[in-house]
Amino acid sequence: MEKRELICIGCPLGCMITVDMQDGKVVKVTGNTCPRGEKYAVKEVTCPTRIVTSSVRVSGGDIHVLSVKTREAVPKEKIFDCANALKTVKVAAPVRIGDIILKDAAGTGIPFVATKNVKFRSSL
Ligand code: SF4
Repeated sequence: MEKRELICIGCPLGCMITVDMQDGKVVKVTGNTCPRGEKYAVKEVTCPTRIVTSSVRVSGGDIHVLSVKTREAVPKEKIFDCANALKTVKVAAPVRIGDIILKDAAGTGIPFVATKNVKFRSSL
């Protein structure tokens, strides 16, 4: 029997959760104070995902770098591919929060979106 220990990130309580696994399948979850913790732990040991945050270059804007994030969590093993996919991306101002910056992050089908507004650079 394999035991995995996790700290739940569902709320500030940070419960210490233990997941018992057999042959790659979850047998028992203990230590969670609420059902959200069990759901998180099962997902984390079977199909972990993360929101990816990064930045891209901007042309013609009042700032030169725009912060972006994946609109949803992507599979953990795709994190570096997603970050790499942004290396050649450059956007033109203006940009609004939520604008799609890259339609499909590394074949996940999940877009990168802007997390900042960027105005045109003033010539004054
Ligand atoms: S198990 Fe529930 S109470 Fe505990 S940290 Fe997770 S969300 Fe919070």
